[in-house]
Amino acid sequence: MGKRGPKPKFTDVTCPNEDCEDYCKVNNGNIIGNGTYKTKNGKVHKFHCKTCEKSFTSNSNTILHVFKN
Ligand SMILES: [Zn+2]
Repeated sequence: MGKRGPKPKFTDVTCPNEDCEDYCKVNNGNIIGNGTYKTKNGKVHKFHCKTCEKSFTSNSNTILHVFKN
């Protein structure tokens, strides 16, 4: 049987969207984790900002990339 730990929190992740009300605010509760996926450079976390409804990713360099769509 698999273990179930507590859900990870992303309180140190901020919204990279400059037009967002919660841009660069930490511990604001607007960021939710949206899973991970693998790239050739490693695992990437996907996030979603509840304030501006944008999704973005974070690699290990903490550089955030807004999906352009
Ligand atoms: Zn946002």
